[in-house]
Amino acid sequence: MSNLRVGGEGTLQARPPLLKLSNIVRSFMEGGRQREVLRGVDMELARGEFVALLGPSGSGKSTLLNLVSGIDAPDGGHLEVDGVRLHELSERERTRFRRDRIGFVFQFFNLVPTLTVEENLLLPLELKGAVGKDDRARALGLLDRVGLADRAEAWPDRLSGGEQQRIALARALVHRPSLVLADEPTGNLDQQTGAVVLDLLVELLRDAGTTLLAVTHAPEVASRMDRVLSLRDGRIVSPPDGPARQTQSDGPARQTETTP
Ligand code: ADP
Ligand code: MG
Repeated sequence: MSNLRVGGEGTLQARPPLLKLSNIVRSFMEGGRQREVLRGVDMELARGEFVALLGPSGSGKSTLLNLVSGIDAPDGGHLEVDGVRLHELSERERTRFRRDRIGFVFQFFNLVPTLTVEENLLLPLELKGAVGKDDRARALGLLDRVGLADRAEAWPDRLSGGEQQRIALARALVHRPSLVLADEPTGNLDQQTGAVVLDLLVELLRDAGTTLLAVTHAPEVASRMDRVLSLRDGRIVSPPDGPARQTQSDGPARQTETTP
């Protein structure tokens, strides 16, 4: 069912991609010389698609997420997210874009320790503009969805890691982003807690039709995505054994299937 969310309006391919990167290049100075971290990255994510991004440490995964969120700008290439041509925007415009359209889930939760749970949840809405009564109701509704309705007044550091990440999930969605970027979302949780967070992540984003790009090393996470991509030598490669879901449910290497 999850793959047919846009069935009434046509196939996934019939709509413009939510995310489109063409020949993205990004270099950094390292020891007095340029190192090309991203050397022509091409990728597309359909609206509502879940994609895992794998790659060795230092391969440029975080760099790529920073470009997609508009925190950083590419040295070359085209980068379009939700119809916005990010590579043409100023830093100020990219900040606006990020606040409006992007939700983040981090490995270390990144809740603001001096704000209550509810205040943390309202933060993305405040950055976007004034917070109304409906917004507050929405935040509390999401808190309920992650099973923590009774913790609205709590301080984040009084909560367990799993609870903090459930709050962070609610926070990532409160402003109705079109894209959620997750960097090792279960990386700092034990297996059981990670499974609970993963279930919630999948459920909440599928319900909202939100697109997900998740950097992860965890097979449990990758197996819940629609597709798996790897970053190698500055470029995107699909793993030779195909999308994670097929590998999981249909056994390895169904060569007749192709990735869009
Ligand atoms: P990953 O997330 O895959 O582990 P990163 O994207 O964090 O990798 O980093 C890729 C490479 O780019 C590393 O060599 C890192 O040192 C370098 N790098 C990333 N950001 C910067 C920056 N702002 N300034 C200089 N070098 C950077
Ligand atoms: Mg990283």
